[in-house]
Amino acid sequence: MARNLEPSCRQCRKEGMKLFLKGERCVSPKCAMEKRPVPPGQHGLLRRKEKEYGLQLREKQKVKRAYGVLERQFHKIYEEALRLKGVTGDHLLSLLERRLDNVVYRMGIASSRKEARQMVSHRHITVNGKSVNIASYTVKKGDVIAIKENKRELEMFKELKKQKMVMPKWLEFNGEKLKGQILELPQRDDIDLNIQENLIIELYSK
Ligand code: SF4
Repeated sequence: MARNLEPSCRQCRKEGMKLFLKGERCVSPKCAMEKRPVPPGQHGLLRRKEKEYGLQLREKQKVKRAYGVLERQFHKIYEEALRLKGVTGDHLLSLLERRLDNVVYRMGIASSRKEARQMVSHRHITVNGKSVNIASYTVKKGDVIAIKENKRELEMFKELKKQKMVMPKWLEFNGEKLKGQILELPQRDDIDLNIQENLIIELYSK
């Protein structure tokens, strides 16, 4: 499976924002965006002011990097958003939020989307009682997301029982039962990503 192999912190520095790709390190003083928030490379600070196309491209890259999706997959999600009634940008972000790897991350089961993707591909997660190993699986309202029965004693899940988790209002997760639910479909206001999705739509509409 194709992956983005660029170092995580370099991606954040390139985009000029925290993309939260490294779990706990992202909220510690060790975060590269805290220590050196400038674009990578010798001439990083001398970067030219972006023109319209450059700005649109940057917004697209930010979203792709944050959710860890590659161009082909991202374009497919855009086409799906285009088919839905309403604001395409809102649908685009909502569909990305509804990816199973993102939900596992948002529920606090994993500390980053990358870790969540691994949990899903290693068959640690079930949706409505069935094992799902597809990170891009789109969840629906009412779906029950849980840690597979025979994986619950794994070291990585032990802390979850004690942890007090803060998550978006469209989700719930019970650390004791290691089970959560999709209460609502996510709306734009529920997504704490500082981007201008309209620029991505303009880019693809050219
Ligand atoms: Fe980005 Fe900071 Fe996390 Fe590195 S540690 S991935 S710079 S948010």
